Amino acid sequence: MTTATHEETLGFQTEVKQLLHLMIHSLYSNREIFLRELISNGADACDKLRYAALDNDSLYEGDSELRIEIEHDAEAGTVTVRDNGIGMTRDEVISNLGTIARSGTADFLKQLSGEQQKDARLIGQFGVGFYSGFIVADEISVRTRKAGSDKAEGVEWRSRGEGEFTVADIEREAHGTEIVLHLKEDAKEFADDFRLQSLVRKYSDHIEVPVRMPKVESARDDEGNAIEGSEITTWETVNEATALWSRPKGEISDEEYQAFYKHVAHDFSDPLTWSHNKVEGKLEYTSLLYVPGRAPFDLYERDGARGVKLYVQRVFIMDDAEQFLPLYLRFIKGVLDTRDLSLNVSRELLQQDPKVEKIRSALTKRALDMLKKLAKDKPAYQTFWNTFGSVLKEGPAEDFANREKIAGLLRFSTTHTDSATQDQSLADYVERMQEGQQKIYYIVADSFNAAKSSPHLEIFRKKGIEVVLLHDRVDEWLMSHLNEYDGKALVDVAKGELDLGDIEGEEEKQAQEETAKAKEDLVKRVKEALGDQVQEVKVTHRLTDSPACVVLPEHEMGFQMRRIMEAAGQPMPEVKPILELNPVHALVAKLEGVEGEAFGDLAHVLLDQAIIAEGGHLDDPAAYVKRLNALLTA
Ligand code: ADP
Ligand code: MG
Repeated sequence: MTTATHEETLGFQTEVKQLLHLMIHSLYSNREIFLRELISNGADACDKLRYAALDNDSLYEGDSELRIEIEHDAEAGTVTVRDNGIGMTRDEVISNLGTIARSGTADFLKQLSGEQQKDARLIGQFGVGFYSGFIVADEISVRTRKAGSDKAEGVEWRSRGEGEFTVADIEREAHGTEIVLHLKEDAKEFADDFRLQSLVRKYSDHIEVPVRMPKVESARDDEGNAIEGSEITTWETVNEATALWSRPKGEISDEEYQAFYKHVAHDFSDPLTWSHNKVEGKLEYTSLLYVPGRAPFDLYERDGARGVKLYVQRVFIMDDAEQFLPLYLRFIKGVLDTRDLSLNVSRELLQQDPKVEKIRSALTKRALDMLKKLAKDKPAYQTFWNTFGSVLKEGPAEDFANREKIAGLLRFSTTHTDSATQDQSLADYVERMQEGQQKIYYIVADSFNAAKSSPHLEIFRKKGIEVVLLHDRVDEWLMSHLNEYDGKALVDVAKGELDLGDIEGEEEKQAQEETAKAKEDLVKRVKEALGDQVQEVKVTHRLTDSPACVVLPEHEMGFQMRRIMEAAGQPMPEVKPILELNPVHALVAKLEGVEGEAFGDLAHVLLDQAIIAEGGHLDDPAAYVKRLNALLTA
């Protein structure tokens, strides 16, 4: 009997209370996962002790055979999960089992919808592991002691999962942690040998630490009956107990890969794909990388969890080792196990080690190849793209060397389908290029509709030339780092001179020159009327339906990027657009015949309309309205 002293009752952090409530109500149909979570914690605790003992093996306290034990008592209705891992101090117990330490809790809670299925998935992704015990238990007690501490420094934690928990000091012989679940009336089924064994196999085969369960055997009499009082208990290892990634590929089933993914990624749902590689030679490592099917809640947070789980020669070193993958692949989850680093490597050391850079570029290549392979499965790749596409778009700016590869993985809307769904690749585009077409044309706008109906597309639609429609916030920035694909220049149709290359015949070009000459006088008058509001006025042949459009000089920052910079408080130097007039449009023809004040009004209206069509904002909208009204009533 242990005597408890220094007992105190504390309240759970508000977020924990919310989560407990939610979990108990939304995870009912998935409640067996509690065992996976507790075993996973036990395995983590063993990993941590093994790592700490590298420097100081007295921490094992003479017991270096790391393991997890699971017992049950059908009569009492309890299940016990015990490990001889690192254990916890009193302070650690209070913070680990009383709060949610991970950042982003508030964000997480905001995402909860009250819809059972959706919330259940979110909870899994958030990884509130330990508390899942309360799905099946109406009381949990934890007894633990930190490895290497005094026997008197044991701690007992108890709670009914309702709002508070009690901690007390106890004597505890063994280091490590023991968790006893007092099962709810309707969860007694878990206090069963067969059920527990099959759950351990289902969820924990890939964990390297052995998970053991007691097996009771009796001596038999001559008739084969068990002799009462002769029972002996032996411990039997139930799981496979080899690190999944260290096994040969051919022997691992898809189910095993998927189960392991859920363990490393804290995710309920299956990954989209994975890539498992063993490399020997100059570098020696094994990697197992996964593409998740859903975005984690902290994908766009600066300090969001990213990177792989790092092992050195099978010894767990750290979670979220972010040095091994670039930022634009931060959605990739997985494990890296290497012989090339020393066991006492730290985050700081990782930053300096040249081998890290080599492994990083190898893993980057693996990840990109894995995506390329995934792209062959169109529906799966579309799920990937819709979820992580805008993260991958950061790639060309961050990773110059792999620019072409990344470009091949991008998906866009184009005038080929005129659909807002981004599902066309640049390779698709190139294949459809017209004879004589040398460039890939694109337009950037704030929305799909603005891109789709931009006046700049008129000539392209008329000639049946495809244009990529970019409408993501990051798109202009992306394109500023992507100058060509497959040897073909990428050209913004709203910038610089329109050059359709060989698509236009000599005759066409000559006719255009003649029109330009004929309109020289008009162009001069419009420039005079608009003064320094425009850089230049020209006649254009890129329009068929609109009277005018504005164009930016070729190397000028585009409108979308300017607006983003301005919104971020970065003042941008003023840029004057070039106004281009459609010589065959009725309004332009009318303009030619107008004199005096009305000429100036109409010229201004044409300029302002062109700016509006571009999604731009007028400096003086009231003046525009006034002029337009004057023209309408004239
Ligand atoms: P996570 O495992 O994602 O950190 P959990 O809710 O499963 O979240 O566990 C919370 C924390 O409690 C762990 O990070 C760990 O510090 C501690 N903990 C839980 N179980 C154990 C255990 N068996 N041994 C040592 N520490 C544990
Ligand atoms: Mg856990």
